[in-house]
Amino acid sequence: MKTDILIIGGGLVGLSIAFHLARFSTKKILVIDRTKLNYGSSTRNASHFRVHFGAPENTRFAIEAVKRLNALPSLTGWNPIAARDGYVWLIYHEEQWKSFEKANRMWESLGVSGDLLEREEVTRRWPYLNMDGIIGGFYGPQNGRGHHDSIAYGFYHAASRLGVKFLENTEVIRMNVSGSKMRGVDTTATSPIEAETVVVAGGAYTGTVMKMAGLNVPVEPERREICVSEPVKFFLKPLTISMKDGFYAGQMVRGEIVMSMGLNPTKEFSPLENRIEWLRAMSLAGVKLIPSFRNLRILRTWSGYYDMSPDHSQIMGRDPAWPEGLFVASGFSGHGFMMSTFSGELMAKHILKNQTPDLMKPFLPTRFNEGKLINEALVMSRVQEVNE
Ligand SMILES: Cc1cc2nc3c(=O)[nH]c(=O)nc-3n(C[C@H](O)[C@H](O)[C@H](O)COP(=O)(O)OP(=O)(O)OC[C@H]3O[C@@H](n4cnc5c(N)ncnc54)[C@H](O)[C@@H]3O)c2cc1C
Repeated sequence: MKTDILIIGGGLVGLSIAFHLARFSTKKILVIDRTKLNYGSSTRNASHFRVHFGAPENTRFAIEAVKRLNALPSLTGWNPIAARDGYVWLIYHEEQWKSFEKANRMWESLGVSGDLLEREEVTRRWPYLNMDGIIGGFYGPQNGRGHHDSIAYGFYHAASRLGVKFLENTEVIRMNVSGSKMRGVDTTATSPIEAETVVVAGGAYTGTVMKMAGLNVPVEPERREICVSEPVKFFLKPLTISMKDGFYAGQMVRGEIVMSMGLNPTKEFSPLENRIEWLRAMSLAGVKLIPSFRNLRILRTWSGYYDMSPDHSQIMGRDPAWPEGLFVASGFSGHGFMMSTFSGELMAKHILKNQTPDLMKPFLPTRFNEGKLINEALVMSRVQEVNE
């Protein structure tokens, strides 16, 4: 089997890259997945998006990412079912208040400032909150939620129409390199696939796949647990995040409430199950913050892997020291749903034109050797680290 461009991983990131490559070129494109398309983290997330990040590099990127998310119907013909319900981060300490104050100056300079709210204002706006220990909040009205599956199927159908091919239940087990050029891969189910361009979009498995080419790309799994309630009358707006313990809850399109909290997440490929102690701790945290949750019935729990990078920011592009034709797009560290559309567009331009768009430059894999790490503190795993 032979193709021009092989994409390893059929999650949101791989599907978005495939769609944009097909949109901008006539290359033969194949997406391969060890399981099914959209079976990994891309269908296991909370489906929220935001422009507010701790680092300006991520904030600039996210502003464009949210625009692309909203433009999807005209691109793929599928509605991302997006709603701008906003986010509120609940603040418990003076230090957190100062961090949001500082960040808001940066967000203001980028045109996306939000509102720092005193305790009384938080009480007035969201009377369902138990205000114990809360000294204020930061409200970001630009943020919201979408639907992961609608976006993934949109990419799949639009890419199929443009001629992209898909191979499921087929695992890449070897990367074939010769004379410092990518030649393709060996898999569990087919004869070798020949491809001079290979893009690794393997989510949490990206580090494992890159090792097959003898390369160390620092992407590691972090298993996160999450649940959804039965649908209830709409009352919870915006996505509510506790800066005390990392508990968050948001109401989705049918009225169901998605909730999560990190509780010693395992940093390995542990089974995608749920622990009763997690459900207990998460439920207690939820009922404490929003007492009316005591009447809520949990419908389903599940778990998935964050694809973590050392600076909690995506790794996109290639290192010139790698075999020619090898690219990576991964390490989204808990925000790959919202970044996927724009990342696919940038990756396609990068691969086809051999240029790196400005907004992508901070995210190149070379930053780890050059010591140019991104200082990103406003991610769920950091809220948890601070509180452990
Ligand atoms: C509980 C939870 C909540 C989250 N909430 C949000 C949120 O609200 N907002 C947000 O933006 N992000 C969120 N995320 C993060 C987001 O889901 C991920 O960053 C994103 O889905 C990554 O997409 P991906 O395509 O890179 O990875 P995946 O969807 O995991 O796809 C990777 C694919 O690669 C395939 N693969 C791996 N190895 C091989 C191989 N050797 N051969 C062939 N195929 C292979 C896998 O089978 C998989 O299908 C959350 C994640 C979790 C777990």
